[in-house]
Amino acid sequence: MSNNKTWTNWAGTAECHPRSFIYPSSEEEIQALVKNAVKEGRGIRIAGNGHSFTKLVETSDLLLSLDKWSGLREVDGSIVEVRSGTNIKVLGEELFKAGLAQENLGDIDVQSIAGAVSTGTHGTGVELGNLATQVTEITFVNGSGELINCSEEKDRDVFKAAQISLGALGIITRMKLRCVPKYKLELKNIKGDFNDCLKNVDKHNKENRNFEFYYFPYTDVVQMKFSNLTDATPKDGGIGSYLNDIILENGAFKVLSEFSRMVPSQSRNVSKLAGKFVGESQRCNWSHRVFATARLVRFTEMEYNIPAESFQECIREIRKKIDDTQYDLHFPIENRFVKGDDIWLSPAYGRDSAYIAIHMYKGMPYEKYFTDMENIFKKYNGRPHWGKMHFQKAGDLAKRYPKWNDFHRIRKAMDPKGVFMNDYLKSIFGE
Ligand SMILES: Cc1cc2nc3c(=O)[nH]c(=O)nc-3n(C[C@H](O)[C@H](O)[C@H](O)COP(=O)(O)OP(=O)(O)OC[C@H]3O[C@@H](n4cnc5c(N)ncnc54)[C@H](O)[C@@H]3O)c2cc1C
Repeated sequence: MSNNKTWTNWAGTAECHPRSFIYPSSEEEIQALVKNAVKEGRGIRIAGNGHSFTKLVETSDLLLSLDKWSGLREVDGSIVEVRSGTNIKVLGEELFKAGLAQENLGDIDVQSIAGAVSTGTHGTGVELGNLATQVTEITFVNGSGELINCSEEKDRDVFKAAQISLGALGIITRMKLRCVPKYKLELKNIKGDFNDCLKNVDKHNKENRNFEFYYFPYTDVVQMKFSNLTDATPKDGGIGSYLNDIILENGAFKVLSEFSRMVPSQSRNVSKLAGKFVGESQRCNWSHRVFATARLVRFTEMEYNIPAESFQECIREIRKKIDDTQYDLHFPIENRFVKGDDIWLSPAYGRDSAYIAIHMYKGMPYEKYFTDMENIFKKYNGRPHWGKMHFQKAGDLAKRYPKWNDFHRIRKAMDPKGVFMNDYLKSIFGE
């Protein structure tokens, strides 16, 4: 335990000065902590690796990190049990040693598994759900200090609420994940034209395991990413791939981004220049080494889930709004596709979905751009990614989630004293 420290998130959009940082290393310790907090009338928040953009983690009271509660606990065929503080990259390597892999991942691997699952983190692939759909059983310490174990078969309502719970039901200590035999992916980055890409979105989604694309504002350029299963020997794509994946997405892009921040009126030209530099590359490796890319350029992000069938109309409206408004903007827009699920607070609840992510370089104003885009997303029944910026409050969110009231019924049963509430959660839950 240590005191007088500052906690900040990756993007610098959330910060707090907790009374105590606590690093428990056993379930018994976590249970005792919660019971004691209840007795003393204290609040607890749980930090993963701080990669959410919203103020989910902030607290002035007790902040708990599970960094010392990490690693695979059990492997039973393709079902594994993992401690909640395990970093996704570490998990990938441990699964690999056991001949297994996660069926899908997002585009970074530095999150804790519990943090990623709890906000509905996703990758891309129309046949693949978000990470929480890989979870088959969850064990957590609730707001009374009890150890709760739930699954599809056992306490189903609690499980459906716990799969994506924003750390509001309790402290997840373990989860079981449905894994698949380890597999290799071949990733191809291909430059394309916006209208051609949209014409072929359904085809690309059908013919590729993982398809996504980035659109460069104020240009016709897209960068398409296709990943498919392969038996080929792992190899990187050489210097061309390195320039495309790392330098453009990170190093050179950082220089361009700094220039945009200093001379915002040049942002549109920077986007056009970045579009020109988009190259083509190919590489092949084990899946967990392909999904993740380094993100050295810091930014603020909003991402919305919309029904898959609204994607074309929505992205065209976004493009038109950007062209008409001429925002100082140079970051590409990321477009991904995810299979629908039945998790109560999942943005993909009950619908096959598209996710559209917009970004602004750290230090540049994002409010007007994000507000305008959010108004468009809302027209298409958009639901925000729980870990990314949005301006919605409880009234609006409740209308978008058919199981909203069921989630809160379980939340109140699991945390009757509101031990896990902070100001941000109160604002989005309407308390
Ligand atoms: C550069 C970057 C790239 C990203 N890429 C993607 C992407 O490709 N796809 C995508 O969907 N998202 C992406 N995200 C968002 C990110 O995956 C989520 O915000 C995720 O929640 C971050 O995980 P974390 O471990 O940092 O958790 P934190 O942000 O620290 O916490 C997230 C939530 O989980 C809760 N929590 C953490 N641990 C526990 C626990 N043990 N028990 C209960 N609650 C817990 C916290 O209280 C909080 O509410 C990205 C974010 C960044 C900054």
